Amino acid sequence: MASAQVKASPHFFDVTPTTGWPAGPVAVTYCGDTTYEQAAANAQEVEMTMPTPAFGAHRSIAGGFEHAFTAGVGVGCDCLQIFVKNQRQWRAPQLCDRHVAAYKAGARQTGLTPVLAHASYLLNLASPDTATRRKSVHAMVDELERCEALGVSALIFHPGAHLGSGIKSGIKRVARSLDQVHERCPGYRTLILLETTAGQGTAVGHRFEQLAAIIDHVSASGRLGVCLDTCHLFAAGYDFRKPEDYAAMVDELGSVIGLSNVKCIHLNDSKRLLGSRVDRHEHIGKGKIGKRGFVHFVNDKRFAHVPMIIETPKGKDGRGTDLDKVNLKRLRALIR
Ligand code: ZN
Ligand code: MN
Ligand code: MN
Repeated sequence: MASAQVKASPHFFDVTPTTGWPAGPVAVTYCGDTTYEQAAANAQEVEMTMPTPAFGAHRSIAGGFEHAFTAGVGVGCDCLQIFVKNQRQWRAPQLCDRHVAAYKAGARQTGLTPVLAHASYLLNLASPDTATRRKSVHAMVDELERCEALGVSALIFHPGAHLGSGIKSGIKRVARSLDQVHERCPGYRTLILLETTAGQGTAVGHRFEQLAAIIDHVSASGRLGVCLDTCHLFAAGYDFRKPEDYAAMVDELGSVIGLSNVKCIHLNDSKRLLGSRVDRHEHIGKGKIGKRGFVHFVNDKRFAHVPMIIETPKGKDGRGTDLDKVNLKRLRALIR
């Protein structure tokens, strides 16, 4: 957080629509105040600072949850994204009290918030193959149970691939699968976020309309949200490098999905061209999007309460600095 006096509410999933400042449909809590007038009154005493988003990175849980938290703090994260199990395997050992305690200690000691989880890339809730889809629903339930036990705010997943059966039937299968997951996880607080995809192969979810259609078909749609991914958006054909194009895209997002449904933004540059439909992440400012595309997101007050997470290539630069630290610094430098 950029400011100790004024910061986005950590309870960003609870914010309710209002009018007034900041422009847009979402109220941010300032020092516990909920209206601009109250915040303005307080601001006479403290120097008013515009809220900035919480920035974070996806970090590995190898060696235990505590390592992800420690590494996150080390590279300058405010918030964090993790896997809640080995994402390359369908089965994983059950969470035990020891794991939960390690997670909670990590969260408490580092103060990273919110924490979001990314679901395994193996699961395909859109699959026309009944066995695969069933297995995927089962795995998604397992992931959501882990999230709930840990206190993870949201579980992000890629809607899946229709594998030639068509976008429409893919959309319906994802929705039916999510209904089944919800039925098996009654009363859970962890939200499920649908991530925008690059549209590689037969991937579902590369147009806002497709995500809106999935949400529309799900009974407990209030338990869902959306995660934007800048690399995926760009690869899918959404250009947001020029201010006017960014404005048009966010307008479209607002009317098709609703800006209050955006609960996370993945900030990744793209190795591939606009509309390439190929998902290859690049370091911030070093890809085909370039810094100017990210300037809009990090300075958009409508997204000031939305956690922004990098999933850029891992490693170290020439001086031995973690590349996540480099990318996060680069993003913060874009704030005006
Ligand atoms: Zn993803
Ligand atoms: Mn992503
Ligand atoms: Mn990706």
